Amino acid sequence: ALNEMQLDFLSKSQNESFARVVVAAFASQLDPTLDELADIKTAVSEAVTNCIIHGYENTVGVIRIKSKLYTDKIIISVQDWGKGIEDIQKARQPLWTSKPELERSGMGFTIMEDFMDKLEIESTPGEGTIITMVK
Ligand code: ATP
Ligand code: MG
Repeated sequence: ALNEMQLDFLSKSQNESFARVVVAAFASQLDPTLDELADIKTAVSEAVTNCIIHGYENTVGVIRIKSKLYTDKIIISVQDWGKGIEDIQKARQPLWTSKPELERSGMGFTIMEDFMDKLEIESTPGEGTIITMVK
């Protein structure tokens, strides 16, 4: 990798924009287009929001972002040690949400998948979740 970073922060909603801005600043080293940068910011926001709302369900835990830059791509992972996902296939489906009562639209993973080139979800119930995205 050309460069690497790791960032740990608390699952507070104020940190969603913080995380998005940090990753965008890091990604800027690759001279992305404004569109590419916007896509990365949106994907990171969705992943971090999921850790806050679903992973830790509004208790406070640690969220870890790791990123690596290569000449032609960026890899970003977003990890929590929260409740985990029971059925990943189901969770990836557009419009599926476990929290319809909170007016979630169930589009987070679909957005990450559309805006990035690759999306991988690893999760163990009771242990946590790691989302890895490549662009
Ligand atoms: P939206 O993102 O549109 O507000 P959503 O968060 O419910 O709605 P997705 O982001 O696509 O939709 O996530 C789908 C489902 O996957 C969630 O409803 C939740 O059940 C589960 N999920 C996603 N991320 C996590 C996570 N980090 N920990 C535990 N469960 C998760
Ligand atoms: Mg979501």
